[in-house]
Amino acid sequence: MTTYISTALRQSVIERAGGCCEYCLLSQDDIFFAFEIDHVIAEKHDGQTVTGNLCLSCPDCNRYKGSDIGSIDPETDLLTALYNPRTQHWNDHFRLEDFVIEPLTDVGRVTVRLLRLNQIERIQDRQLYAELGSYPCRSENA
Ligand SMILES: [Zn+2]
Repeated sequence: MTTYISTALRQSVIERAGGCCEYCLLSQDDIFFAFEIDHVIAEKHDGQTVTGNLCLSCPDCNRYKGSDIGSIDPETDLLTALYNPRTQHWNDHFRLEDFVIEPLTDVGRVTVRLLRLNQIERIQDRQLYAELGSYPCRSENA
């Protein structure tokens, strides 16, 4: 079940994100399909439909994330929370290296893996958008 998200709430999430996917830094202007409003903590885990639990996500990131909130870190075998764009800073957990999103932490590792941030097609898209000057998309809150 998906809660209705009002136009005003949707707009405020889009504006806060600067039209950028808060996981992979793709710009909404670069893709045909509309970006989606993601519940950082999914509703099935009692995540609320409030600005403090919503983020802007491209369709790829949102599809792979689904309702997950964590995964097993391949290095430690520990259950580890996914990156939370509301409470954490992207640069603390990831860095861009030739359009590959390199994880810097356990949180980064599980997020890169689960959201398939470094699928070859996605890396190629980033390179193309970088050449066009729109990648990485950066919001003022990043
Ligand atoms: Zn994305």
